Amino acid sequence: MPTINENFLKLEKNYLFINIAKKVNAFLAENPDAPLIRMGIGDVTLPIAPVCVEAMKKGVEEMGVKETFRGYEDSGAGYDFLKEAIAGYYKKFHVSLELDEIRVNDGAKSDCGNIVDIFGNDNVVLITDPAYPVYVDSNKMSGRTVIYVDSNEANGFAARPDPAVHADLIYLCSPNNPTGSAYTRAQLKEWIDYAKINQAIIIYDAAYEAFITDSDVPHSIYEVEGAKECAIEMCSLSKTAGFTGMRCGYTIVPLALHVTASNREDVSIAQIWGRRQGSKFNGVSYPVQCAAAAVFTDEGLKQIHENIAYYQENAAIIAKTMDELRIQYTGGKNSPYIWLKCPNGMSSWELFDYLLYEIAVVGTPGEGFGKNGEGWFRLTAFGDRDRTIEAMERMKKLISK
Ligand code: PLP
Repeated sequence: MPTINENFLKLEKNYLFINIAKKVNAFLAENPDAPLIRMGIGDVTLPIAPVCVEAMKKGVEEMGVKETFRGYEDSGAGYDFLKEAIAGYYKKFHVSLELDEIRVNDGAKSDCGNIVDIFGNDNVVLITDPAYPVYVDSNKMSGRTVIYVDSNEANGFAARPDPAVHADLIYLCSPNNPTGSAYTRAQLKEWIDYAKINQAIIIYDAAYEAFITDSDVPHSIYEVEGAKECAIEMCSLSKTAGFTGMRCGYTIVPLALHVTASNREDVSIAQIWGRRQGSKFNGVSYPVQCAAAAVFTDEGLKQIHENIAYYQENAAIIAKTMDELRIQYTGGKNSPYIWLKCPNGMSSWELFDYLLYEIAVVGTPGEGFGKNGEGWFRLTAFGDRDRTIEAMERMKKLISK
């Protein structure tokens, strides 16, 4: 009989969204006609941009013709046409990338989880609390010790490094899921300095960079001096371009990023990450990469920003409602998430049940993202405009009662 990886037994038994789905299903069984509005799961609702559809169609047509058909992609790291498009996009932020620093993937979640493969299990892993659950789960699955740094009301849900604490791997996400907070250049510089002192590596998740509007919030950690020597960046087209059902993202591992192995051998992180991916990943489909490259054309960027502007307007509507109700929140700006303090001292799950049963609105209890999420609640701006307005009207009536 095989043994199993018993680290899996130590994971939280119920994944947050499974719990939510169970509660919503029970509510709908009791109230089948309830006009439910879902503002919980962070999935997009607008279709992908027309330029992406056209590029994908063309890619599919090419696959059906002998002369242009493509099988396995040689490197599995992404076609140069897409990597060049990504590098061109980073130039807009004055970040220069070599094509060998970019690896295309089927979405950021895979690489957020897979990157742990290349690091030893004895590393001290520092994760902000609350956080996107993949960081914690993927490290716990491989038996690592995770330590937490508080993101809370006191620091505006933008955790800062504690010089008294040592870490080897540091997960940062900005703009943040779930809290909507975003690091300024100066705040990121503090983390880079901390990483350098600790000889640590930052795993930086920029999945929501396209929502940034403030000029002092960087789109990429590499906009900040010194990051190329200590940070890996992960990004995704899921929220940027509505690719949640298309599946495409990319990871940047700077060629300057090196560590020393126990035998004193100098190891390039890009090289061992490439080795890992070469063994376990065969690349992203050609038509999807064609669509992804179209995102970064002038027309593509114009079209995706029309969708982002729609979500940003939803976020502004939610934020305005919170202002009117005098409910404290972070996010809404630079982010599609509004992270609000549960009114009247309610717990996260109490507010969840209250909104579900009183006004048929579904959000996400902050407690599901970590202990500092208790007493907080996440609403997303990815919904339909009319439903967002309707949900906020219902909330105003309920809370101001
Ligand atoms: N990172 C963060 C912070 C996210 O919120 C998500 C998705 O919700 C992802 C990464 C993964 O996105 P995908 O796998 O769709 O690229």
